[in-house]
Amino acid sequence: MSTVTAESSARQAVQRALMLVNGQWVQSADGRFLSVENPANRRTIAEVPRGGAEDVDRAVRAASDAFAGWKTVAPRERGKLLLKIAGAMEAQTEALARLVATETGNALRTQSRPEVRSAIDVFRYFGSVAGELKGETIPLGEAMLSYTRREPIGVVGGIIPWNSPVALGSLKIAMSIAAGNTLVLKAAEDAPLAVLEMGKICQEFLPAGVVNVITGYGEECGAPLAQHPLVRKLTFTGSTEVGKLVMRAAAERIVPVSLELGGKSPAIVFPDADDDRVVDGVISGMRFTRQGQSCTAGSRLFLHQSIFDSFLEKVTVKLRALKIGDPLDEATDMGAIINRKQFDRVCSFIEDGLSQKAARLLSGGLPPRDGPLAAGYFVEPTVFAEVRNEWRIAREEIFGPVMVAIPWTEESDAIRMANDSHYGLAAYVWTRDLGRALRTAHAIESGWVQVNQGLGQFLGQSYGGMKQSGIGREYSLEGMLDSFTQRKNVTVNLQF
Ligand code: NAD
Repeated sequence: MSTVTAESSARQAVQRALMLVNGQWVQSADGRFLSVENPANRRTIAEVPRGGAEDVDRAVRAASDAFAGWKTVAPRERGKLLLKIAGAMEAQTEALARLVATETGNALRTQSRPEVRSAIDVFRYFGSVAGELKGETIPLGEAMLSYTRREPIGVVGGIIPWNSPVALGSLKIAMSIAAGNTLVLKAAEDAPLAVLEMGKICQEFLPAGVVNVITGYGEECGAPLAQHPLVRKLTFTGSTEVGKLVMRAAAERIVPVSLELGGKSPAIVFPDADDDRVVDGVISGMRFTRQGQSCTAGSRLFLHQSIFDSFLEKVTVKLRALKIGDPLDEATDMGAIINRKQFDRVCSFIEDGLSQKAARLLSGGLPPRDGPLAAGYFVEPTVFAEVRNEWRIAREEIFGPVMVAIPWTEESDAIRMANDSHYGLAAYVWTRDLGRALRTAHAIESGWVQVNQGLGQFLGQSYGGMKQSGIGREYSLEGMLDSFTQRKNVTVNLQF
């Protein structure tokens, strides 16, 4: 990322980053900037261009021009460039991780460093499989040759959120360009800095215009990208609400769209799973150390009535041991919520839970008003027990460290409640009874079910949601083939 230094109103030197368009580092057409804040102390740490329709147009045209050359580069050669990007990124792991921690509030040890490592892995994975863009031949007899080609689609418009900016940005970049497309990637306004740095690393190896990284607000910069007539494929990760707008824009021009959207994922715990390992897995699945700001957070905990109290007692003991604070401190387990808006939203859900007479607050609650944690957007891990599945806190995606625990007695009830959601992204099932585990996994309406673990996505998995959690699959070779290439059939009469 190229930068210039400007004076902020606080008379502090603030880095001004620039955007990557056609291999150049540029300001927005109207010269406006937007501020990026460190959510752990609410200080402005940088400014980035506040891109608009004119900037989108410039970037899309650059990507469109670059497509003609890039699509002819042999897939394995494209893959080799991705492997070089991975190597260069690896050399900068620590600097990138610290930048992600500073702009997102995610703790360096538990989140930001692993995130950067996973982004490097993304480039390695897609770099290695780029040569697998194979088509098929169709056996129409000796007199006919009929085959399919996997061709790139053209300019991809990618839009990402702030919660794992580098990991999600790496996916959009790697899948798009390994398949032979070019890309205009819009970073999230709250976390654009490490994505711009990743763009800089990519630019060292790629022809100008193949990857463009632009910054700006959703309506001003994201919407014109979704609507641009030269964009031939849209890939969006973010909220279901905005996903619908992106899908509408795609419908206008009949362009394919992949949507990775929100979730309200269930974790079902059977009576035989009342132990510490399961408690650790439920806490990990809820992504408490990411402040719950994960689309796959297992935020609805369905506990069998017979273990309800004993399981939750273990959960609260472990949550109390989590260290919340400075994301850059190696001892910190859990950092800050991304911004004021999200912080207020999370607090409003906690207030909602507190106002429910039947619910019990077991840990956390409204954030401290004084002391060191009041300097940033910190919210303690919060658990409400005796929640009903139809309450707002059990239905809407909070995207914060708030988990609700709901008791059940019949397996069929647990499954019915788990499926009673307009989301269908992830799910977690905990039991030692394999038959029961798999029956439940098959009955759950989610794109991804983990049995007896609460881990993050892995490469090679075709990841994506059911229902309003999205369409299309990413993270895998098959996902790239389905979502980032188009098939063409060529049929030749050999007797002509
Ligand atoms: P968001 O939808 O508000 O924003 C996501 C991106 O869309 C940002 O870059 C934003 O600037 C842009 N945007 C906003 N309005 C737009 C518009 N009108 N047109 C085009 N672009 C627009 O989401 P967020 O708050 O940044 O992220 C949180 C959401 O993302 C949660 O719902 C979470 O579940 C979801 N998410 C899903 C996945 C997944 O893999 N399914 C992964 C991470 C996050």
